[in-house]
Amino acid sequence: MTDITLAIRNCNIVLEDGIIFDGVLLLSGDRITEYGKEGEIEIPECAETVDAHGGYVGPGFVDLHVHGGDGKSLVFDTVAAADYYLRSGTTSILAAPWYKLDFKTFLSAIENVKEKMPLAPTVKGFYMEGPYTNQKYGSHAASNPWKEGIVEEEYRLLVDSAGSLAKVWTIAPEIPGIGDFVRYAKDVNPSVVFAVGHSEATPDEIRALGSRYLPTLETHSTNATGQRDRQGGIIGAGPDEYALATPEMYCELISDSQAIHVKQDIQRMLIRCKGVDKIVLITDGSVYNNPTPEKFAGVTDINFSPAGEVAGSKLTMAMACRNIMTHSRVGITEAFLMASRNPARVIGIDGEVGTIERGKRADLVIVDGKFNVFGVILGGVKCKFEEQV
Ligand SMILES: [Zn+2]
Repeated sequence: MTDITLAIRNCNIVLEDGIIFDGVLLLSGDRITEYGKEGEIEIPECAETVDAHGGYVGPGFVDLHVHGGDGKSLVFDTVAAADYYLRSGTTSILAAPWYKLDFKTFLSAIENVKEKMPLAPTVKGFYMEGPYTNQKYGSHAASNPWKEGIVEEEYRLLVDSAGSLAKVWTIAPEIPGIGDFVRYAKDVNPSVVFAVGHSEATPDEIRALGSRYLPTLETHSTNATGQRDRQGGIIGAGPDEYALATPEMYCELISDSQAIHVKQDIQRMLIRCKGVDKIVLITDGSVYNNPTPEKFAGVTDINFSPAGEVAGSKLTMAMACRNIMTHSRVGITEAFLMASRNPARVIGIDGEVGTIERGKRADLVIVDGKFNVFGVILGGVKCKFEEQV
């Protein structure tokens, strides 16, 4: 047997299609080597053993959409913010610059993250939330330095600087000139994923991008989107309806404890329409730390802008998993699909991470049945482990 370096015992192993209760998981270096039921798996004497005390071991969380957390910006205070999320089980994360950053700051955010990535191994690249989004939906004209529209000299520098690290670009397809932008972004990084978001594009406007440039992801579905073609009592069709009606589209979902970003029935509708294979839980964690407005008294897991509007979350992925189990008819296995496997698939890292499989990277999280996090293993190395589960 290959040299086993770590054995996790007394755990319930969350696989893609079910759970091995009372299991044992063996790691060798940074890889998952073997797993199965206690008694059926031989544990070499030389291996370090940890007792998970009956906790659930699942694939580390993959959070595609994070601006910051715990008061730290993931694009400017990259190492500290990534470490905060790692301790809550997020072993792959994309750093998200946002529309309010003007051109120079946006570019410096990209450069800063690139420089810090060697010290922040969970950061896999960028989620570019903008800059070309619709000012009517979460990117207000007053604070939007991009309101003059699309400027080729600027986007070329952003796209060139991010290169293949730009995993996702969120766009509003209705913005004039967006076609030139997506063509350039795809030329520079052919594996880039386009997301429709902060948009009121009609399905025809989305399709006009052309098959090579179609979005495969919707940025926080049903949140900060619109419908331009609603007429009287007849519902319109915007990015949400396009995403619901297009089988290959993934939908991001912010599931906060009180269903403020996305109402409980809408969360249920998204899961029912898309299925658990196409929902991607995100935190949309932000750096705001403004007081909670009176009408949201008691809310602890979302952030507010200085104007008192909902502006991202204070969630961790573990909290998002617990919330989606509270709000809808899903269990632990499905929560891990939405928090780990599906986002890994969106950005094409699912060959390495996102599920527990032999040969995959040993990025793991250990939780109890309420998604309290007790253990985190990154590349086979324990980076947080509390023995008392
Ligand atoms: Zn965001």
